[in-house]
Amino acid sequence: MQTLHKVSLEARHISLAYGATPVLRDVTLKIEPGEFFALLGPSGSGKSTLLRLIAGFNQHQSGELLVDGRDITGVAPHARNIGMVFQNYALWPHMTVWDNVAFGLVERREPREQIGRKVGEVLELVGLAQYAQRRPGQLSGGQQQRVALARTVVIEPKLLLLDEPLSNLDKQLRVQMREELKNLQRKLGLTTIFVTHDQEEAMTTADRMAVLDKGVLQQVGSAAGLYDFPVNRFVAGFVGTTNLLEGLVTAVNAETVRFHAQGVGELTLPSPPHPPRAGSAALAFRPHQVDIRVRDELAEPSRVWVEGVVESAEFLGEFSRYRVRVGEAALVSDQPHYAGLSMFPPGAQVRLGIEPTQVRFLAD
Ligand code: ADP
Repeated sequence: MQTLHKVSLEARHISLAYGATPVLRDVTLKIEPGEFFALLGPSGSGKSTLLRLIAGFNQHQSGELLVDGRDITGVAPHARNIGMVFQNYALWPHMTVWDNVAFGLVERREPREQIGRKVGEVLELVGLAQYAQRRPGQLSGGQQQRVALARTVVIEPKLLLLDEPLSNLDKQLRVQMREELKNLQRKLGLTTIFVTHDQEEAMTTADRMAVLDKGVLQQVGSAAGLYDFPVNRFVAGFVGTTNLLEGLVTAVNAETVRFHAQGVGELTLPSPPHPPRAGSAALAFRPHQVDIRVRDELAEPSRVWVEGVVESAEFLGEFSRYRVRVGEAALVSDQPHYAGLSMFPPGAQVRLGIEPTQVRFLAD
């Protein structure tokens, strides 16, 4: 199988409402040729609506949808040459794997010999050559999913769309299949867009992702880009686990930012490359950037220390997770574990040391 030409996809100021309910609001996005791109967001954020719009099953009320720079808004779904894999796979239960995969090519009246070659190749590609004569009901969930993928890519679509492709599989298989999916996408080089509500799935498979909330595109970037530099509280909380310390930026200069944390007091942090404006903001930082110590222990001066009381302690093997009450906030601190390390019990009076270079100031 060969993909001759990798396409880009661009949404420009797309809005869509169901009746009076806006579902997509001014979505602007560019997906590069050959990219594996995830649409990530909570349930109801508009991910499937956007995917279906790309496939041509939904129509936007304003904006433009471009494939390789050409507006496809008026093009019927079947004429778009876009392949979509549905969550439930939608395989024909009475047909063999071979016939399921051949179906689209038979419909297109391709020559028999060509169909045979293409189906054989694609079954080989997804590792199902020896299952060609089985029916979907005789296959595992992961194998059924591969059939669904094979059936979609065999028609050589310009774009591959996947709607929550792994959500019907159990946890272990999901981890295995996301690896397979990524490898397959790499081999095909096909511009691929997949919808997921699972941040780990998006982070482990996608080249880049867009985070949606309430039909609004919040941020686009790589997994590390979004994790390290979230633009707002929503992205900080949705991509990974975060601590948010609410308060007020009171003074900013080239070296330092003074921050008044609610119920905690004044903190001094190094100025980031783009210093925040004075006014209400949150400090966002990851649990593993927070050290936990007994109060009277000598503190590492490079960290920003706040005092608190342990509310809960969870042992998770690789690390222990503490929830610590600090003023009005409950902060999370993850501590790497090793044998012999004893845990702080609930009620322990502790100090938390935040790594200041890893703190982000969020205004929104
Ligand atoms: P997601 O895929 O992120 O879970 P959807 O795109 O399915 O979200 O849905 C976004 C919003 O649009 C939801 O509030 C949903 O209830 C609404 N919605 C989806 N499809 C329809 C429809 N056909 N008619 C009316 N509302 C819809």
